[in-house]
Amino acid sequence: MDRHDERPHATGDGHDRRREPGHGAVLFYHSVGTDHGDSYGRTISEHRLALDIEAWLDRGYRIVDLTTAVETGGGGGRLALTFDDGYESFATRVVPLLERFDVPATVYVHTDAIGSSNHLTETQLRDLFDHDLVTVGNHTRSHPYLDRVDDHGTLVDEIVGARTTFERRFGVAPDHFAYPFYRFDERSLTVVRDSHETAVAGPPGHPAVGPADPLSTDSDPHLLPRVDGVTLSVLSNAGGCRRLLDGLGP
Ligand SMILES: [Zn+2]
Repeated sequence: MDRHDERPHATGDGHDRRREPGHGAVLFYHSVGTDHGDSYGRTISEHRLALDIEAWLDRGYRIVDLTTAVETGGGGGRLALTFDDGYESFATRVVPLLERFDVPATVYVHTDAIGSSNHLTETQLRDLFDHDLVTVGNHTRSHPYLDRVDDHGTLVDEIVGARTTFERRFGVAPDHFAYPFYRFDERSLTVVRDSHETAVAGPPGHPAVGPADPLSTDSDPHLLPRVDGVTLSVLSNAGGCRRLLDGLGP
């Protein structure tokens, strides 16, 4: 069991503690900026993310690493934070927040993006692999639509070859995978099952994912549903977070 699982967190006065959070989720983000929104509407501000983390902790949610969230099915209000695409803002804006709140997160990186504009550099990634609160996950080599990669050798290279590249460059082979664009098919799913411990997909109900259940002990560890943290934040200003998450499951 991870050291971040059962850590008690001080609950501030004035919050309703009669009902403990029952459901958990894997939340996903992309870049983190200084203000609201980007042209894709996928950026959350550093300030907003900090407020959200604080709000969840105050309301009894526990932010755990991905493995713990999967093993427990998110029960007891366990949340895992994930960040896709290896943006540089993960190192510059997210890691300071993780350290401030002492909570873990996973960042998914596609190897072709390392060192490119606005993305993590090799040096930053090296530090992240060494960071106690960070798990680096594999997001393929070139971020393709995996269900459109017809050649099996190319498919294996995108998934397993990228993992091997991490191992060669950083000395660690990631055990966790994220499907680019949340898209997969039976072939890519099979390759991922054979090479990684977990894999995250998209939001429940996303066309590429199907009407997935919220995170539970029945969740397929290689098709884990995720909740859009940016959307959740917009909805959660005054504690709607609990309502939304509690509304996810049975
Ligand atoms: Zn991506």
